[in-house]
Amino acid sequence: MAFVSMGPMLKRAQADGYGIAAFNMIDYNSARSIVEGAADMNAPIIVQVSVKTIRHWGFKPIATWVRMMAEDTDVPVALHLDHCTDEDVIKRCIDAGWTSVMFDGSSLPFAENRERSEAIYRLTESAGVGLEAEIGAIGGVEDDKFVAEDSAILADYDECLEFVKNMPNLAVFAPAIGTAHGVYKGQPKIAYALLEKITAAVAIPIALHGGTGLSQEQFDRCIAAGCAKVNISTMHKLRFIKGFIGVRQEKPKLEEPLPFIIGQYDAMKKDVCDMITAFGSQGKAAHAAGTAG
Ligand SMILES: [Zn+2]
Repeated sequence: MAFVSMGPMLKRAQADGYGIAAFNMIDYNSARSIVEGAADMNAPIIVQVSVKTIRHWGFKPIATWVRMMAEDTDVPVALHLDHCTDEDVIKRCIDAGWTSVMFDGSSLPFAENRERSEAIYRLTESAGVGLEAEIGAIGGVEDDKFVAEDSAILADYDECLEFVKNMPNLAVFAPAIGTAHGVYKGQPKIAYALLEKITAAVAIPIALHGGTGLSQEQFDRCIAAGCAKVNISTMHKLRFIKGFIGVRQEKPKLEEPLPFIIGQYDAMKKDVCDMITAFGSQGKAAHAAGTAG
C-alpha cells in the first residue's frame, strides 16, 4: 500500500475508537519486524525514528528501507520523525521522504514553542507532510533530554487551545497528560479528565507518549478518550536486546549470525502484534487507509 501520511489515518482511528501503534525502529531488522508484524495483523502502522537513530544510519537508508517495506505490504505505513528540536533535521527528513515529523518545543517557553511550531507547521503544510507538536513535559528520557517523572508538567488546557489554534491541520497533538518515557518507576498517573477536556475541544487526534508499561485498562481509557497514536519505544528496545541475547543463552556454541537476527526479529515482531491487538487496530488496514468499502 506504500507510504501514507499519518494524519488522515489517525483521524479515522480516533473516530472509530482504535489506536495506531507507533514503534521506534532501531535498524533494518527492527523496521522489518514492525512493518511485517503490522502486515500479519492487517493493521495500519507508524514506523518512527529518533534523531539519534537517524544520525547513526543516515536519512536516505532509513527512508529507502521503510519505503521499500511499505511498498511490499498491503497495510498503510507511515514514516515519522520522533521528538526533534532541530529544524535542520526536520528539513532533511522531509527531503529524504518522511511522511511526517515531530517538532518538540516542549522545553521552550509557551510563546516560543507556539511560534516555532507554527513556523514548522507552515513548512510541513507546504511540503505535504504531517506534523506532531507537543506541549507540557512528558517525563523520562528521550534522546538526551531527561525530565524526572515527578517533575513532568501536565499540559495546561487553555494553552492547548491557544497552541493548536493556528494549526488546524496538525496530524497529531501531544499534550503531556502524565505518561513518561522509559520504564515506569511507580504507577503512572494519567490525567484522564484533562485528556477528555482537550479532545472535546480540539478536533485533532492525540498522541500517547510513554506507552511501554501501561496496562490494558490504561490503553483502553486513553484510546477511548481520543489517543489515536500510541508510542512504543522502550519495550521494542528491550526486545531488540533480549531477543538477540536469548539465542546465545539457548545455543552458547552457535557461530552462525542469522539465527541471532531471526531470534531478535521474532521477539520484536511478537510485541508488535501484541500491541496492535491491545490498541484494537488489528484488521483496520483498509479502514485507516480510507479504502474500506
Ligand atoms: Zn515521546
